[in-house]
Amino acid sequence: MNNAPITRRDFLKWSGASALALTAIPAFDNVALADLMGADETAQVGILIDTTKCVGCRQCQVACQTRNNLPPLPEKIPAHATYPDQLSANAFTHVEFFQTGGTPSAPVFTSVKRQCMHCAEPACAAVCPVGAIVKTPQGPVTYDAEKCLGCRYCMAACPFNIPKFEWASANPRIRKCDLCADRLAQGKLPACVAACPAGALTFGARKELIAEAQARIGSQPDKYVPYIYGLSQVGGASILYLANVPFDQIGLNMNLPETPVPEYTIQIMEKVPSIALGVALLAGGIAWWRNRKRGDVQESEQARE
Ligand code: SF4
Ligand code: SF4
Ligand code: SF4
Repeated sequence: MNNAPITRRDFLKWSGASALALTAIPAFDNVALADLMGADETAQVGILIDTTKCVGCRQCQVACQTRNNLPPLPEKIPAHATYPDQLSANAFTHVEFFQTGGTPSAPVFTSVKRQCMHCAEPACAAVCPVGAIVKTPQGPVTYDAEKCLGCRYCMAACPFNIPKFEWASANPRIRKCDLCADRLAQGKLPACVAACPAGALTFGARKELIAEAQARIGSQPDKYVPYIYGLSQVGGASILYLANVPFDQIGLNMNLPETPVPEYTIQIMEKVPSIALGVALLAGGIAWWRNRKRGDVQESEQARE
């Protein structure tokens, strides 16, 4: 685990894939990670965010905007200002600033990168009636705009308030961080991790990130709060945090249950089968209408060519 470019071998090692897989699959870059790695939960990758190392430079944000073809950040943003003030359809990650010490004349800030947590059992995926959001075996929670109905159940279900909707678009999508799944498939680091100059972001196998976080806490008990955020919240996540102040002082919700949120969702759906049936019928109808609309647009575009 380090922040050097990911090699094909690293990925297969993290995934628990066998040496046979290395020889059997000659073109890693062109093969879906899911096909290579199977569903070994222990193989999931993630990011360890060490807020004690973060210098608040926002290079992770700049890289994310570029990678996702989102509007660039303004040239000048006031020091310690959270920009934008919340995640949006045009910002999949941002850096939040919290005053955590010092004095009024000499405040001390902690900067915290925020994005989708890539939950182990994501509520967003559990409630999606058409499977537009999926938890991949490698860790990223990805989204398929072609399947999306625009029902926004995922937005309501997410315990971290992450998915955003393109309200201003004629053909709106849900937008959020996808852990740079396409870059991972090419053996590259997530763009934000590759851009961080301070070593605050570490990419690797989740189980190795947990061991690394435990080692940092153990070796510097006076520095770190003895807790790894993301280890157990709503069943665990691929994004993990370390801090030197209580997590609720830096905007991370400590009141979430350890039980995965989907369990509650499924229980409710099972108790109300008519709701589930209604959702399914509505979903099917909207999907048919959207696909027909897309087909009409494509046909008219082809007719113009
Ligand atoms: S943080 Fe929210 S959007 Fe991200 S995987 Fe978890 S439930 Fe889904
Ligand atoms: S993993 Fe990729 S999409 Fe997610 S915050 Fe980092 S750069 Fe943005
Ligand atoms: S690039 Fe690294 S140091 Fe800079 S704000 Fe992002 S996480 Fe913090």
